[in-house]
Amino acid sequence: MDGLLWIPVLALAVAAPLLYPRWRLRRALARPLPAAAEAVLQRNIPVYASMGAALQQQLRQLVKQFLHQKKFVGCEGLELDDEMRYTIAGQACLLLLNRPSKVYRALHTILVYPSAFLVPRQQMEAGGVVTAHKQTLLGESWDDGRVVLSWADVKRGYRDWTDGHNVVLHEFAHQLDSESGSTNGAPYLGSQDSYRSWSAVLSRDYDNLRYDAYYGRQDSVLDHYGATSPAEFFAVATETFFEKPWQMAGRHAALYDEFMKYYRVDPRAWLDQPAAPPLPEPGPVPLMAAGPGAARRSYAIASW
Ligand SMILES: [Zn+2]
Repeated sequence: MDGLLWIPVLALAVAAPLLYPRWRLRRALARPLPAAAEAVLQRNIPVYASMGAALQQQLRQLVKQFLHQKKFVGCEGLELDDEMRYTIAGQACLLLLNRPSKVYRALHTILVYPSAFLVPRQQMEAGGVVTAHKQTLLGESWDDGRVVLSWADVKRGYRDWTDGHNVVLHEFAHQLDSESGSTNGAPYLGSQDSYRSWSAVLSRDYDNLRYDAYYGRQDSVLDHYGATSPAEFFAVATETFFEKPWQMAGRHAALYDEFMKYYRVDPRAWLDQPAAPPLPEPGPVPLMAAGPGAARRSYAIASW
């Protein structure tokens, strides 16, 4: 009989490593969000106040899970505080509302720099010569589970929620994209029909944006950085979807529909419809070019 007592003990020993994290998560989710954290969401996510009680509740739960599971690391002497953690988690979790997905299952660490940061890069030149240089970035997403952010640019992102530029939304869109197995502008969509429709609409609008970028058209709703690659197009369109939903729905109706199906929210409900923009001046449109020392908006690393 004594031998049989070992069976439940052994079962418990095997199950404990699986059950303990779930128990800790349930306990973290059961605790209310501190009032100061709620104030950060109100202050630094300008659409939070107009999301409605049900979505606010969802976002609070997602934020609690995000902060429970992910590690934040301050870089170059940056001391992270709750304002930074709740601001970044709150914006990142906007992309997960109404979707029964895990909270960025591959992500484990968010590294935060005080401002734009330098990273070493290698480039293959003509003739196969590899040259090393440094690049200034505002954000970076790696599919090994890291996101890197410039806090100065996170602040810029939420202080103007209508300019279509938001480094947190951008980098976490790359994270969702990479969950499908490759960072290529197509996140996990489910059915074949969804992939067909996504591919048809995004390919067309991506080609149109490349044309706009090539000719320097300045009336694009989507930032020309999205013309860099299909992955950047998805990340830029995500920023636009959440920050300029009315303009995107007006100029890219099919694309907006695809993003509504994927993100399962309609951000037009959270933002007032802007007044119609003034008509552009007649005459040739000057070409736009980044200055030689301009920081890249962000960067997605497919693998390493
Ligand atoms: Zn990017």
